[in-house]
Amino acid sequence: MSTTSNESVTVGSATAAPGEIKRGAIAAGDLAGGVKVEIPVVVINGAGAGPTFWVNAAIHGDEPEGPLACALASKRIDPAKLKGAVVLVPCVNPLAFSAAERGNPLDTFTYDMNRIYPGKPDGYFSDRVAHAHWEAMKDVADLEISIHSGGAHSFLDKAIFVDERPESVELAKAMGEGWGCIMSNFTKSGSPMAAMNNAGKVGITVELGGRSYTSPERFRYVGEELAKSIVNICYHYEMLDGQATYPDDATKGQQEALLAPASGIFLPEPGVDFLTMMNKGDTIARIINIFGDEVGELKAPADGMFFGLRALPNVNQGDWCCFFNKVEGPRD
Ligand SMILES: [Zn+2]
Repeated sequence: MSTTSNESVTVGSATAAPGEIKRGAIAAGDLAGGVKVEIPVVVINGAGAGPTFWVNAAIHGDEPEGPLACALASKRIDPAKLKGAVVLVPCVNPLAFSAAERGNPLDTFTYDMNRIYPGKPDGYFSDRVAHAHWEAMKDVADLEISIHSGGAHSFLDKAIFVDERPESVELAKAMGEGWGCIMSNFTKSGSPMAAMNNAGKVGITVELGGRSYTSPERFRYVGEELAKSIVNICYHYEMLDGQATYPDDATKGQQEALLAPASGIFLPEPGVDFLTMMNKGDTIARIINIFGDEVGELKAPADGMFFGLRALPNVNQGDWCCFFNKVEGPRD
C-alpha cells in the first residue's frame, strides 16, 4: 500500500502519522505461563508520499544480524525526509531469538518458520506467529526483504534469492554495491518472500553473516552493511534523497547445498574465497578424521562460486558444509 502524505500507517499497536516514527508490537498469542508473545515493530512513516518498504529479520532465531541492521537503520531514516514508509520488524520469531535457536524450542512440530509462510491461524504455534506477521504485512507492504544469515552453523557472504520477475531483480540490485550474487528461487510457498510474490508484490531473501562473523568487529561490519543496504533501497526507490549504488558484477545462478560426505574436521582449502569464481571440480574443502587422515573432499559441482561455508569445523556426514552458486552467467 503506497502511502500518501497525509495518511497514518498502522502495524500492530504502532500508528505513525506522516513524519513520525513509532514503536509497537504485533500480538502473536500467549503461552501457558501467561507470557504474551509479541513481534516488535518500528513504523517510520515519511512526511511525503511513496511506497511502503518492509524489512523483516530473525525468522531464524540464531541470526542476530538482521535485528542489528534494523536497529542501525531505524536511527538513520529521518521520517521528515522520507517519502513513503519503512516498516522494520527486527525479530519475527521472538521465542526462537530469545533462545538463540533456529526455531522456537517450545514448538518442535514446526521448527523452521521460513518453511511455513503464510502460516495458519489454527496451526502449530509457529504457524500462528507467522500468520500474525503475514496478516500485518500483506496489506501494508509493497516491497519486502527478509534478512537471513548462516546462523549457528555457517557464515554466508552477501547473497540474494529472487523469483526472477524484473521487479524482484530490481529490488535485489538495489541492495547495492557488492550484492552481485543473485540466485533464482521459484519456491511457491513457505517463506515471506514467496507469500509476498504470490500476493503480486515484491519480496526477496538476503543473506549475510553467521557464526564465524560474530566477533565484535565482524558482527558490527555485517550489521552496518545490511543497514547501508536498507538505506540504499530507499535511495533507489526515491524514498530518500541520495545516490544509490549497485553491484557491478551481478550474476544469475542456482543454489546447491553441499553436504558433508564424511565425518570429522572440516578444513577449507587454502586460497579459496567467498564470491570468487572457480571451475567445476576445484577443491573447496577437505574433511580429515580425528587421526588426521583425509576422509572426504568437497568439490565445486559446477563453474561458479561459494557464498557460504560451514563455520563450525566439527562435522558429521550429511551436515551442511557449503552453499554454492552454480553460476549461469552475468545479469544485464
Ligand atoms: Zn535464516
